Amino acid sequence: MAEKRKSSKSERAGMASRSHGSDVVRVDFAFKRELAQKVEGDLANFCYQCGACVGDCPATRYSPAFNPREIMLKVLYGLESELLGPDSVLWQCTNCYGCHERCPQEVKPVEVIISLKNMLADRGLAPPAADKVIQTFMSNGRTVPDNPAIDKQRAKFDLPPLRTVPMDEVLALIGSEVEEESGS
Ligand code: SF4
Ligand code: SF4
Repeated sequence: MAEKRKSSKSERAGMASRSHGSDVVRVDFAFKRELAQKVEGDLANFCYQCGACVGDCPATRYSPAFNPREIMLKVLYGLESELLGPDSVLWQCTNCYGCHERCPQEVKPVEVIISLKNMLADRGLAPPAADKVIQTFMSNGRTVPDNPAIDKQRAKFDLPPLRTVPMDEVLALIGSEVEEESGS
């Protein structure tokens, strides 16, 4: 399904200038450099605004405020304040990867959005539900709490109990990733 309405050139320019209080579009390269350090965070640079990613996006279908093409455009302009604030629209993305399959430029909008979500979490701006998942993962290496009911269910299918996640290895991996991103 094609995108219902595409923004005009003047609307796009207006979107870019809102943050800067003038008609001059000033790309925030510091923000773009920070995003580029994240996994796949630099892919939005290949977006040519065709809108194919919007057609099957379930978040767009249920929320007029969410549009992956517009998110990629804001990334191209480096509009950090419109992307990384409290109650960011980015959390409406379901991570379904539909946009990834549709994009002719292999931009992987979902991966860019995940990187932006990671930046929100780094700034302490994750919503409570996402924050809870992060805390659970940091404690047991999984996104759901340990629960004996899981092993009971597995046993019904002759599966062994879940193994304990080696948290020292997980934390070491996270630590090296953070070091890589910070360039230290
Ligand atoms: S991954 Fe997110 S942006 Fe992409 S189609 Fe699904 S909901 Fe939309
Ligand atoms: S992310 Fe891909 S599909 Fe979406 S507007 Fe850009 S080039 Fe088109």
